[in-house]
Amino acid sequence: MKKLICRDCGVKKELDEFRRRKRGSEVRTHQCHSCHAAEERIRSRIRRAKKDRSIAVQGMSALKRAKSARQVEAVCATMIEKFGGINRLCEVWKDLLARDLKRGGLAGMRHMEAVIRLLHYCDS
Ligand SMILES: [Zn+2]
Repeated sequence: MKKLICRDCGVKKELDEFRRRKRGSEVRTHQCHSCHAAEERIRSRIRRAKKDRSIAVQGMSALKRAKSARQVEAVCATMIEKFGGINRLCEVWKDLLARDLKRGGLAGMRHMEAVIRLLHYCDS
């Protein structure tokens, strides 16, 4: 059986270790199944991180706009639910804060506004 060399790992493998370029096609990709799977895991981690950041940013904006203690509570409950717990929410928020502070500019301000809103809520 014909063998191909994976362009990523450089290992010579059987043809069936490579995905078909299109369904029903005999043409194979130049990446083996395990390298493809590893790349997909990285892609999905990146997609998840982007989605998490987006949820956190939406949450911070909602906190900023919250007009009452009940609204602040509702925003917090929604974010905790979306992240599957407060630990994950804090983890994502911490990473987003580090990223925004590194970037500089006004990005860090939204964190301050959200924290101030939370402190104001805790105070009242
Ligand atoms: Zn490979």
